[in-house]
Amino acid sequence: MNDIQLQRLVSDLSKQFFQKSFKDQAVFNSRLRTTGGRYLPDKRTIEINPKYLAELGMDEMVGIIKHELCHYHLHITGKPFGHGDKAFKTLLKETNSPRHCQPLPSEVDKLSLVYKYKCQSCGQLYKRRRKVNINRYSCGHCKGKISPVN
Ligand SMILES: [Zn+2]
Ligand SMILES: [Zn+2]
Repeated sequence: MNDIQLQRLVSDLSKQFFQKSFKDQAVFNSRLRTTGGRYLPDKRTIEINPKYLAELGMDEMVGIIKHELCHYHLHITGKPFGHGDKAFKTLLKETNSPRHCQPLPSEVDKLSLVYKYKCQSCGQLYKRRRKVNINRYSCGHCKGKISPVN
């Protein structure tokens, strides 16, 4: 899907769920990392993370667009459009839009990555979320030297 097709999809969803036309810009932004999309009020632009379409599919992306359209339509009509605003929460419900987007599978993988270490003396296994400096840490049981295992 390219920006032109995205623009068309956003317009269609706007008419279908908000009964209003979308007259501004929708673009893919591949620099977005953990967020599925965002609305830039200054530029009246909706940005969509292309990785969400690739990893989670069309349904998830439609949800993200509807969520951003809630920000957009409130903003351009001069209403409060922040996540905490009542008008925003109401519009999310009315249009059956998601409050949050799902985390990207590839980002979740990164978060659940663990580093494993083993004591060279007693064999005790350690799992750590961060890399450990093996010269500074020793085994909690026997004070032996630890080394990384794959
Ligand atoms: Zn939002
Ligand atoms: Zn040990």
